[in-house]
Formats: sequence, C-alpha cells, structure tokens
Amino acid sequence: MSANRERVYRGGAARATVWRNVSGADRRERRSHLTAPRVPTVGIDIGGTKVMAGVVDADGNILEQLRTETPDKSKSPKVVEDTIVELVLDLSERHDVHAVGIGAAGWVDADRSRVLFAPHLAWRDEPLRDRLSERLLVPVMVDNDANTAAWAEWRFGAARGEPDLVMITLGTGIGGAILEDGHVKRGRYGVAGEFGHMQVVPGGHRCPCGNRGCWEQYSSGNALVREARELAAADSPVAYGIIDRVGGNIRDITGPLITELARQGDAMCVELFQDIGQWLGVGIANLAAALDPSCFVIGGGVSAADDLLIGPARDAFRRTLTGRGYRPEARIVKAELGPEAGMVGAADLARLVARRFRRTNRRRVERYERYGRVYGRQAADS
Ligand SMILES: [Zn+2]
Repeated sequence: MSANRERVYRGGAARATVWRNVSGADRRERRSHLTAPRVPTVGIDIGGTKVMAGVVDADGNILEQLRTETPDKSKSPKVVEDTIVELVLDLSERHDVHAVGIGAAGWVDADRSRVLFAPHLAWRDEPLRDRLSERLLVPVMVDNDANTAAWAEWRFGAARGEPDLVMITLGTGIGGAILEDGHVKRGRYGVAGEFGHMQVVPGGHRCPCGNRGCWEQYSSGNALVREARELAAADSPVAYGIIDRVGGNIRDITGPLITELARQGDAMCVELFQDIGQWLGVGIANLAAALDPSCFVIGGGVSAADDLLIGPARDAFRRTLTGRGYRPEARIVKAELGPEAGMVGAADLARLVARRFRRTNRRRVERYERYGRVYGRQAADS
C-alpha cells in the first residue's frame, strides 16, 4: 500500500479509500498527458452564472453534459460543494468516473488544492480539493478556468501542436493563461495570467480591481457595452441604429446585440469592435514581448465577433510588436471549443491524477457520508 493513502475498514465489508494528498498528489500531477490513463473523467466548469459538468473521454469527446445554476454568492461554500457532488454522482450513475477536474472562475493556489478567492462565490481560501476528494472518493484536481480552457485548446482545439501558447478569454473582463512546453504556468503563488489588470492607460478608466487603466477596461465585453451606451446616451448620430433597436432603452444594449449589429454592418458597432480589437492587439504585442509564444488563442463570448475583432487585433499586433520584421510572428487565432473548453480541459487535466477502477458510486459515497463521519474521518485526521 502506498504511503499517500490508507484504507479504512469498517465491519470487514464496507471499505473506503481516504486520500492523503500533499506529497502523493504532487507526484501524481507530474504525470504527463501521454502517460495518463485513457479513462473517462468528469470536468466541471464553475462560472459566475452556470455550473457545467460533463463526462469527457481521453480524446476530448463529451459523452454527457449537465448544467445548473451557480449558487448565489450569499450561499455557504458547502452549498456549492453539494452542487458539485450531486452533478458528479448523477453522471457516475451512467459512466465510470475515475477522477474529477474543476475549473473555477477564481484564484487557485499553486499546489491546486485551495481556491484563494472567487469573485462570484463565497470561497475564501477554500480547501476545495480535499473537501471534494473526501466526499467523492476519487482524485480531484482544481484549477483556474482560464488554465483549463487553454489546456483544452492545446490538446483538442485551435492550438493543437503548439505547446507554447497564450490564451486570452474576452468575456465581461479578460482572463488569461500561459502554456509553456505543454505545461500550464501558474506562477509561484498560482495566480499568473491575470493579464486583464495590466495597466495600458495611466490614469485611464476606473477598474473594479481598484486601479485605473487596466487592459480589460479597453478590450472586453464590458468595454464594448460601456462605449456603446456612452454613445447612445450622448444621442450621437452614429448611435441611431442601436438606439432604434433597443427602443431608446440604453440599458438594453448588450454585447451580443452589438455583435449582431456589427455583423449586419452597423457602422458604429463595427467601429467599436475595431477599437477593442486594436487594444487587444496592443496587449498581445506586450505579452509577446514578455512571453514569446507561437500562438495566441482568443476565446470568450466577445470572440464570437470573429474577424471583426481579430482582424484589427492582428493589424495592431503587427504595428506594435517589438522587433517586428526581424522575428517570427505568433499566430492569433480564435478558440475552437466554445463555452465547453473549460470543462473539457478540467476533465483532461484530471486524467493526470486519475486512478483506474476507482470509480465513484452513489451507494458507496452515501454509505461513506453516513458512517464515514464516525469512523473514516477520525482515521483520516489521525
Ligand atoms: Zn483592474
């Protein structure tokens, strides 16, 4: 029996495996995707509004998918935990599940066990990995959702064959992740890749993070909507198209609406995408100066605008890149896996910690939950 786990026998028949993490988990996480077992795992993406859970096979195919609403911020961490456990148990009734990977919209510490902070949830230094693996009885992996999305795009999506990539997700803000030689770069404290809060305009727009002039104030869904609403509120003639469309209710201007109008050729909306695309290209040139990847993958809801956004970004990137003309240029491509990327990547990363034939099972888990408190956890704590 390995040193990192111990078995707890109860009455000779009921049996549970209690995972002792730390050193054992570190060793397992060093396993490469090439040597990881080709078993199905569950990926869970916890976003601001939706929790998505899916069984994913070793080739990145989604075998079954469930979704539910994210419990409100005011709810205790236990409620979110219960939601995750319920989704996994539901899926495990129809699939063998050998490990669970979580991609969370929040800061995950460097050894990927605790969520330090999640803006949409009540998690504050939450020991999520151990809590869940204790309840689910399978190995659990926790990571930032941008990291898991980047991993998925490298393994199965737009950046296949490009192990040095930077992913930028444009949603309400900017999320980011770095892969170097096929490894996610998390930084010493786990919070690398927060590109959205690099200052691009000294004294610029105020950002909810507390600073001014952050990149995501100029190149994100929020920036797009803010600019459109400002133009509409000023009753600018360029905004007449969109004002008509929302019947004068400026609050009804949304990112998807701006995208739709831009696609139809509305001049103001096209121009707004040129603006945020240009800022995107400038930021990417900065990242290329620092990180020199071969590929930038642009994901998130705003990337649905395709070339309306990515065209101007490529132009600005070429104009701004340091050493331009004397160095190979990184490609800028749109993500391919859509909103499922974070879930697929979490599942695939979980294979690195998976154990064959350690499937979770509702009866076993329920029995453990009922009796385990008395016996199992005492043993685990001792
Ligand atoms: Zn900021």
